Amino acid sequence: MSEIAGHARVVIIGGGVVGVSALYHLAKAGWTDCVLLEKNELTAGSTWHAAGNVPTFSSSWSIMNMQRYSAELYRGLAEAVDYPMNYHVTGSIRLGHSKERLREFQRVAGMGRYQGMDLEILAPDEIRSRYPFAETHDLTGALYDPYDGDIDPAQLTQALAKGARDLGAKIYRFCPATGVRRENDEWVISTVKGEIRCEYVVNAAGYYAREVGKMFGRDMPMMVMSHQYMLFDEVPEVAAWSREAGHKLPLLRDVDSSYYLRQEKNGFNLGPYERNCKAHWVTPDDPMPEDFSFQLYLDDLERLEWYINDACERVPLLGRAGLTKNINGPIPYTPDGNPLIGPMPGVPNAFEACVFTFGICQGGGAGKVLAEWVMQGETEWDMWSCDPRRFTAFCDQDYTVAKGMEVYGHEYGMHFPHHAWPAGRNKKLSPVHDRVASLGGQSSAYNGWERANWYARPGDDTSEEATQTWAREGAWFEAVRDECLAVRDAAGILDLPGFSRFRVQGPGARDWLNTLITGMAPKPGRIGLGYFADAKGRIVTEMSLMALDEDFLFLITAATAQWHDLEWLTAHLPAGSDIVVQDVTEAFSCQILTGPKSRDILSGITDADLSKSWLTHQSAQVDGIWCQLVRVSFAGELGWEIHSKIEDTPKIFDAVMKAGEPLGLRPFGMFALNSLRLEKGYRAWKGDLSTDYTVLQGGLERFVKWDKPEFLGKQALAAEKLSGVTKRFVTLTIEAGDCDAPYMSTLWHDGKVVGETTSGGWGHRIGKSIALGMLRADLAEPGTRLEVEIFGERFAATVQADEPLWDPGNERLRA
Ligand SMILES: Cc1cc2nc3c(=O)[nH]c(=O)nc-3n(C[C@H](O)[C@H](O)[C@H](O)COP(=O)(O)OP(=O)(O)OC[C@H]3O[C@@H](n4cnc5c(N)ncnc54)[C@H](O)[C@@H]3O)c2cc1C
Repeated sequence: MSEIAGHARVVIIGGGVVGVSALYHLAKAGWTDCVLLEKNELTAGSTWHAAGNVPTFSSSWSIMNMQRYSAELYRGLAEAVDYPMNYHVTGSIRLGHSKERLREFQRVAGMGRYQGMDLEILAPDEIRSRYPFAETHDLTGALYDPYDGDIDPAQLTQALAKGARDLGAKIYRFCPATGVRRENDEWVISTVKGEIRCEYVVNAAGYYAREVGKMFGRDMPMMVMSHQYMLFDEVPEVAAWSREAGHKLPLLRDVDSSYYLRQEKNGFNLGPYERNCKAHWVTPDDPMPEDFSFQLYLDDLERLEWYINDACERVPLLGRAGLTKNINGPIPYTPDGNPLIGPMPGVPNAFEACVFTFGICQGGGAGKVLAEWVMQGETEWDMWSCDPRRFTAFCDQDYTVAKGMEVYGHEYGMHFPHHAWPAGRNKKLSPVHDRVASLGGQSSAYNGWERANWYARPGDDTSEEATQTWAREGAWFEAVRDECLAVRDAAGILDLPGFSRFRVQGPGARDWLNTLITGMAPKPGRIGLGYFADAKGRIVTEMSLMALDEDFLFLITAATAQWHDLEWLTAHLPAGSDIVVQDVTEAFSCQILTGPKSRDILSGITDADLSKSWLTHQSAQVDGIWCQLVRVSFAGELGWEIHSKIEDTPKIFDAVMKAGEPLGLRPFGMFALNSLRLEKGYRAWKGDLSTDYTVLQGGLERFVKWDKPEFLGKQALAAEKLSGVTKRFVTLTIEAGDCDAPYMSTLWHDGKVVGETTSGGWGHRIGKSIALGMLRADLAEPGTRLEVEIFGERFAATVQADEPLWDPGNERLRA
């Protein structure tokens, strides 16, 4: 007889902190018929040797949410599950060396306040009152996080395991999953102790997730880095200070130098993220061992020398302490450093909760998110930042290793809105790419596709450093203004490869789409926006629907949404239907031609009827090449999107450039497009449009066809309408300083936080700083005066009418 249960609702593969937290959260939510398989002893992967830091800091809203939740959970966990453990809430001080860093701290402090946390900015002379042993002469300030601390990772895992077991969930140790197969709509998991059938399976195998992924036929975007921390002997001064204070020193993070320094007993723990970092198990001469349970890499202190010296200068006491131990362990990375939590791409009823770089501080929140994915198929918070589907087929191993090393080496790097990280580039090039580059195009990757962000003029500073600013300053800003004004006064062309495209065809295709979108699919010959809601009425995605025939539609959506949106469509296909949904992203491309002169430019090179109205499309020839000319413009001017076979784009580009040159046509980039769309109030996916908001909150009621018999989310939206919408999407103009409002800047009214921005930037046509955002509904009246907190300073702002700031009547679009 098998030693293990033959059936479970969920099987989790991997017993590190994340897998066990997932099991605990499932059990707590009532799904107790769940099993966790661990190939060795619990914590045998990265968890046993983790330093155990539990920060809440993140410049990402969703990651901060997860970490905040973890810290809250851990504070009450010992008592909740009756398992005592070491968790020290010591607070932390993040040191800033520059004005830009202080701005980052201010922004995070603002987000933290919104999430109910009191993060505090310290002036340089305040740092020593909390940390008397630090040198502060070269600092611009610091961020104090009172919730930061450290926990014993093994005890934390055991506590979660106890909680899960007490509720009835099962954990099988020394029981590796060795294979999986799909049978009768169930998963069958093979183990050394027998087989288990289950409805859902979760890959929580940490740095072994890639191996487990292969069982499902999945090539996972992950790699493994070596990460070290050093433990130092007791320092009498630290012991004396701690004794007197009655607590440990706060943790110091010198983020510009790239390390943390923590009090460990009465000595120190120093953990750098070094630039000269090392990947492991990525070359044939360094194969991944079958089993690495409870093992470490050899010490490699040479790599850390610079960091040790820097830390000794920062805290001279450290220089007097003897190094007692070094820990060098495997730590997995995805290409952006965020974990994978959510549906396993392309695999039914399978999920991922793995590749955690900060699994101890994120484990609690990750368990909650994973449990929601499995049980409800959706999450409370929008978790796109961790969704496995954000990495598509182009993320091969070379790319993943290059990005993983870049992220590790800049673990504490600032993510400036106009800066493009250089590693892993040029994965997907438009056939027009060389032309774009020779015209000065400065590009970055969108789902792997290089697109011009802006066009440098002769003499413009195109260095990385020039874009490492939060402010509206530098050559790129001036160049973007020129591009926007050219689009306003003459015309611009933007080569836009990589739009995700799906061909939807077959009997009943239109009726089916109408059950998914809140509005109505357009009639043949027309194009329109479709909003896809979930059952709660929240915004899942927005796609352009181009109707070629009654039951033949082309769906166009954001580049990064490729796998996400395709899965949404295929998951909702009616059983047994003949509707075919086909991803044709790679076959076609698009160029935007927009501006008042665009009709004149096209008229000499196309046979199309250019008098056809806004929101129509037609099959036509441009310079003898077939294309679909679509009368829309995300820039808000007269214009066409020219969709063609991807290989034909250079000929079309050349013809348009030639015809346009005498009329003032110039190429423009993504930064200009962002500025232009803000002036029109056009929403961007996963900023303005996310599952954090409902369709009604998003101000999209004009896209809701209430009298349709049924559509996904209708019930919830109808109920929300009846009870009253509590938040409203608004456009604001801000009397801002030198920075525009980043995502998730807080809105203030009468001394209270009343909303948040979802995107912001400078509108060159109107000469104003603009933010789109969500505001308490009773304040959404046009003309209401508010304040927007931008990097810690509050600036006056005005709520605008519910119409575009630029060309409110859309006359230029319709011209
Ligand atoms: C030196 C160092 C310091 C760190 N410090 C911190 C820190 O201070 N704070 C922080 O938040 N994070 C820290 N981390 C990162 C942290 O350790 C990881 O993010 C976290 O432990 C990941 O947990 P996990 O559960 O995802 O994976 P793991 O702990 O690796 O667990 C995965 C489990 O899956 C099991 N497994 C694999 N294959 C199979 C199979 N086929 N069948 C069954 N089981 C399988 C493994 O045995 C393993 O136990 C540190 C990492 C290192 C290397």
